[in-house]
Amino acid sequence: ADASAYALTARGLTKQFGGFHAVKNVDLSIRRGSIHALIGPNGAGKTTCFNLLTKTLTPTAGTITFEGRDITGMRAADVARLGLVRSFQISATFPHLTALENVRVALQSAYGKAFHFWRSLSAVEPLNARAEELLDRVGLAQSRNLTAAELSYGKKRALEIATTLALDPQIMLLDEPTAGMGHEDIEPITELIREAAKGRTVLIVEHNLSVVSTLCDRITVLQHGQLLTEGSYAEVSSNPDVITAYMGG
Ligand code: ADP
Repeated sequence: ADASAYALTARGLTKQFGGFHAVKNVDLSIRRGSIHALIGPNGAGKTTCFNLLTKTLTPTAGTITFEGRDITGMRAADVARLGLVRSFQISATFPHLTALENVRVALQSAYGKAFHFWRSLSAVEPLNARAEELLDRVGLAQSRNLTAAELSYGKKRALEIATTLALDPQIMLLDEPTAGMGHEDIEPITELIREAAKGRTVLIVEHNLSVVSTLCDRITVLQHGQLLTEGSYAEVSSNPDVITAYMGG
């Protein structure tokens, strides 16, 4: 396929810690508009790969291209401004702000330069309205005045998606959005991601294969830091190498 079909690509992506290859020579192509999953057994290199793509880690070798631009040497904040955004870790950042305030902070940072908070009080109203709209969209309208710390686990994840959507990313990267969730939270968050993915590209690291099967168009499987295979869920789940890898091979 031609390169312009892809929002995000990596070539020869490699990360060494000391002499150890956590990620080795991985090629990735994330099709624009797709929901793409990165899966693999524990220690496969998913988190490292995710951190490389979101610029949290610097690769030892390889290149990352976002919308045709080489972003390998760029900082996370700069690629975020270009439209590549990873989910916020609300619980780790603003636990004592309310849900509404958390989304407003994200909106303010997104509109940073254009938005003169102190100069124009009239600008606060549209900002609040937009924040309310985002909370409503993720099912948190009733919880807007609760602090992030007071929210249930599932609602915290929903708030993280709302703050990520506040930045209106072209590609949204989610690290294990259903981790630690009970069944009752998994279905709504899956629906939420599907809804949030409309008009954008999503890359998720996900352990729950049933979530992957219902949500994701393409799946990349890593093992021992290397690319094992890539394809649809039907393709990868019937691949004997994948089955062996998941059985601890
Ligand atoms: P996954 O997310 O698939 O479980 P990780 O990317 O977390 O895998 O880890 C891949 C491998 O790299 C593991 O063997 C892990 O121990 C190792 N690793 C990850 N981060 C570091 C680090 N900062 N220093 C040393 N080794 C690391």
